[in-house]
Formats: sequence, C-alpha cells, structure tokens
Amino acid sequence: MLGVFQGTSRLRAALRLLSIHSSASPSADLLSSARFMSLSRKLHVGEDGSRSSPGSAPERLPFSRVTEEDLAFFSQILPGRTITDPDLVESSNVDWLKSVRGSSEVLLRPQTTEEVSQILRYCNSHNLAVNPQGGNTGLVGGSVPVYDEIILSTALMNNIRSFDHISGILTCQAGCVLENLSLFLEERDYIMPLDLGAKGSCQIGGNVATNAGGLRLLRYGSLHGTVLGLEVVLADGCVLDCLSTLRKDNTGYDLKQLFIGSEGTLGVITAVSILCPRKPKSVNVVFLGCETFEQLLKAFQLCRGMLGEILSAFEFLDSECMRLLNTHLKLSNPISDCSFYIVIETSGSDPSHDTQKLHNFLEEAMQSLLVTDGTVATEESKIKALWSMRERVTEALTHDGFNYKYDISLPVEQIYQLVTDVRQHLGNRAKSVVGYGHVGDGNLHLNVTSPAKDPALLAAIEPFVYEWTARYHGSISAEHGLGLKKRNYIYYSKPRPAVALMGNIKAMLDPKGILNPYKTLPDQLKPSSSVKSQLGCSFHTDGKE
Ligand code: FAD
Repeated sequence: MLGVFQGTSRLRAALRLLSIHSSASPSADLLSSARFMSLSRKLHVGEDGSRSSPGSAPERLPFSRVTEEDLAFFSQILPGRTITDPDLVESSNVDWLKSVRGSSEVLLRPQTTEEVSQILRYCNSHNLAVNPQGGNTGLVGGSVPVYDEIILSTALMNNIRSFDHISGILTCQAGCVLENLSLFLEERDYIMPLDLGAKGSCQIGGNVATNAGGLRLLRYGSLHGTVLGLEVVLADGCVLDCLSTLRKDNTGYDLKQLFIGSEGTLGVITAVSILCPRKPKSVNVVFLGCETFEQLLKAFQLCRGMLGEILSAFEFLDSECMRLLNTHLKLSNPISDCSFYIVIETSGSDPSHDTQKLHNFLEEAMQSLLVTDGTVATEESKIKALWSMRERVTEALTHDGFNYKYDISLPVEQIYQLVTDVRQHLGNRAKSVVGYGHVGDGNLHLNVTSPAKDPALLAAIEPFVYEWTARYHGSISAEHGLGLKKRNYIYYSKPRPAVALMGNIKAMLDPKGILNPYKTLPDQLKPSSSVKSQLGCSFHTDGKE
C-alpha cells in the first residue's frame, strides 16, 4: 500500500503544479523519414514464415516481365523519374519491418494524376503488375512487391491543392506526408483528424488505402467519416473523380468508401479531400499506472463518464512494452513501475474548464485506487515526451528481434486476455510477448518477438491467435489491413459470401488483376468469370474521357 500512497501523492503534486515531473526524454523525437530509414535494425529479409505458411507468397501469376520497350515508354512520360538503379530501387523493395522483400527492377515516381493514368493504362494493356506505394510504413507486407511488380510511388505527388479556412476541408495529393499536413494545418489553427506513430513517413494516400486508425480515432472517428472525397485512377487508367468537398452527398452509391482500406488493390488514390477539426486550445496528457487490466478498464469507464466531450485518446501499454522502451530506446519510465500504463489525452477549448474536469477525474481515480501513480503534462514538449512512450513501442519492438504482429479488434473487456493466453500458450518459445493499443477503440496490438525468423514459432502463433479472435467475434485486422501476410486468414473475420463479393468487385474494377496482386484477398479466390462488366470512362463526373 505504501507504493500506492507514494504514487498518488506524486500525482497529486503533479496535479497541483500542472507540470510534468518525469525524466522522460524532453523531445518527442518524432520519427522522420530519414530516421525511419536509418534505424539500425536487424535485417530479417525474406518471406514471412515458411513456404507452407498461409502468409507466405503464392506462385507468381503470369504477368508480363518489364522489357526495354516498356522502360522506354516509362522514361518518355517520366523523364528522370523512371528509376532502375538497383541501389535506388532497393529500399522500395523491402518493407518497414524488414520482413518481406520483393524483386522489382522498376520504380516509377509520377507527379500528376495524368501521369498515373498513363502508367496504368499502359500496364493494363501490357499485362504488367503494379504495386502502389506510399511511405512504405505498412505492417502487413502490402506496400512492397512480392515478385517483380512495378513499384508506383506517390512520393512526388505531394502538393496541397486547397484549404478552406471556414469549413476546415483540406484537398491534397496522395503523396503528402501526414506530418507535413499536420504542420501545415497547425499554422492555420487546424489539425488532421488522424495521427499515428509513422506520421513522419506515411502519406495520406497510404493512410486512406489502409484506412489507418491511429491515436485520434476515439475522438474524430475513422477515415470512412472524415474523408469527403477521393480521386482514384483505376486499373485501366480511367480517372474516377469523386473528389467532393461536400459534407453531405447522397447521390447514388458512395464509391469513395470502396477505396478506403482497399490497400491498393482497386485503384491508385491520387488525391484526397478530408475534413479537419479545429486545433484544440487546451491539450492535457496524463500518464498513469495501474496494477491490473480490470482496474485499467474501470479507469476507462470512469474517464468516459467524467471527461466526456474532452476525451481525445485513451491508450495503453503493458510493463513488457515499458521494458523494451527502456532497453532498446533508453526511454525512462516517467512514473514508478506498474503492470499497465495508460495515456489519456484531453483536447478542448477552455483550459480552466478542461483542467478542472481532469483534476476531478484524477481525484476520483486515485480515491478509488484504480491508478497507483501518474504524471500530467500540459506543455507541448512534455506532452510529446509522454506520447512518445506510447508511439515508440513499435520502434522498440523492431530492436527486440523478428516481429510477429497482430492487430486485433475485440470487445474491450477481452482485449488483454489474448495477450495472457498467448504468453501461456507459447511459454519460453517467444523472446517477448507484449500488448499495447487503443483501448478506446477496442484495438489490441499483440506482438511476439523471437531472436530470428522462426517458422515453428509462427506455426504456434497462427492460427491460434486467429481462432481465439474469431471465438470472441473480433476482427483479425483492426487497422493494419491484410496485405500479403494476412490475406488467407480473412475468413476468420468475414463470411464467405462477403469475401466472394469482394472478389467480384476486384474483378470488375481490375479485370486483369494487375493492381497489387497477392494482397488482401485470399489466394483461392479467383476472379469470377461471371462478372463481365468492366468500367469504362463513364465514371468521370464531368462526362469526359
Ligand atoms: P504504404 O505502407 O506505402 O502502403 C500501405 C498499403 O497501401 C499498401 O497496400 C499500398 O499498396 C497501399 N497504398 C499506399 N499508397 C496508396 C495509394 N496512393 N493508392 C492506393 N494504394 C496505396 N496504422 C494504423 O492504422 N494506426 C497506427 O496507429 C499505426 N501506427 C504505426 C506506427 C508505426 C511506427 C508504423 C511503422 C506503422 C504504423 N501503422 C499504423 C501502419 C499504417 O498502415 C501505416 O503507417 C500507414 O497508414 C500506411 O501509409 P503509407 O503511406 O506508409 O503506405
């Protein structure tokens, strides 16, 4: 009990001062693109798991191979931006986790929608497979080629087209880096409705293509709600102009929704319009510790009740995550050692009102002995330092060994039981088994590490984790998508008729299957020959070709 008393005293002191007392790194140390690439991680390149694993690559499909003639065409439309130097193509062939590697010899870097359209029209007619790529931070092997697919990078499509200061609607090209958009908006008193640890590298097109969730979903909802319009180039080169900036538009089917979360398999997103919230005037972040997951859930309930409209994030990490942050990134625990840590963020418009609400919540949480220690931050640099304890867990894991990553949606009261059961199931076969994630969204990130890639360990984890998830009616991919690694497990979360319909949609939009083959849909799902309809250019809203 002494520890509890000391902890809560410290929290009280922190509350009085409303300033951070932690020894956490003073800067948030956000992950910039350069840093992402220069991180000295162990290389584990190759297919994920053994040949027989459902996550490993299927046989190469009979696409054409790139010829000198093809290269001449690409060089003509993309002078200086048709990259064939193996050293330059290399980083685009390997995913962020260094877990999968393609063998593409061509990297195309278009700048305009028209260029993307020309590329796809050509590839479609020449039966060349294409791998759309944004910031290459995806975690399921979807962002890199499996074989020799042409890599179509949106990195140079990074212009902001417009921003409406009254409505808060931003329209930009797909290759804008999330962090750059955030900085642009913050100068104008707005913020992006999404935020994630990969913000320094990931692009808005990639975010939309994966339907990224992230740290603000609890408050601002998913991209299915905040994305107002998309411009997409279809497999045959047609430009689907659904780049609406309207909040309401019920004219027929909402086609843009099809592309949100489609992981580059239905079209290349070239531009996005998105509704952005006003920058909150007052932001507070609290870092709390508690001893059991039950206490954590009670704290969540209390938090929702007492903080209500100002609650903008409720995240957690377990003590194993903290150990990896300490060991691999030298980040110090800002509070005393606990079994679970919570990051709560409030965002509002009235600092004194928000502080009072937060104070009341913390008083109540301490009195009910739900939390044992904690610290509060109100200054921006300190807020970033506390957030980095949560945001940098993914990075810390990459230093721990080979990562087996699971991104599970579950009824919130079940989410940590999976970590406990996996730990027990694997015994000492795993190096680390850690749990963290978005409690507010019922989304657990379960990660297992081993010193090196270990097919036997993989066989022990899968399908155990997926069967467990299905038993509790969860989803095997809450936010990362299915990509290459999880495509064959889709049936654990979706009924067969739904997957068959997805196959028909794919066949209709991309009859030759050139867009991101081997990803998202299961191998045995061949495009249905009964679906004959193909898209012409009649999808242009202005009726033009
Ligand atoms: P890429 O990785 O390049 O591509 C991802 C997929 O989208 C691929 O299938 C690719 O083919 C497709 N794609 C990319 N651009 C386009 C386009 N313009 N048109 C069509 N298809 C396209 N995800 C979350 O949801 N929440 C998190 O909190 C989160 N945190 C992360 C933290 C870290 C440190 C890392 C490394 C990743 C994290 N992720 C998270 C994973 C997340 O999916 C990606 O970071 C991000 O959304 C992908 O964007 P990207 O531009 O890097 O896309």
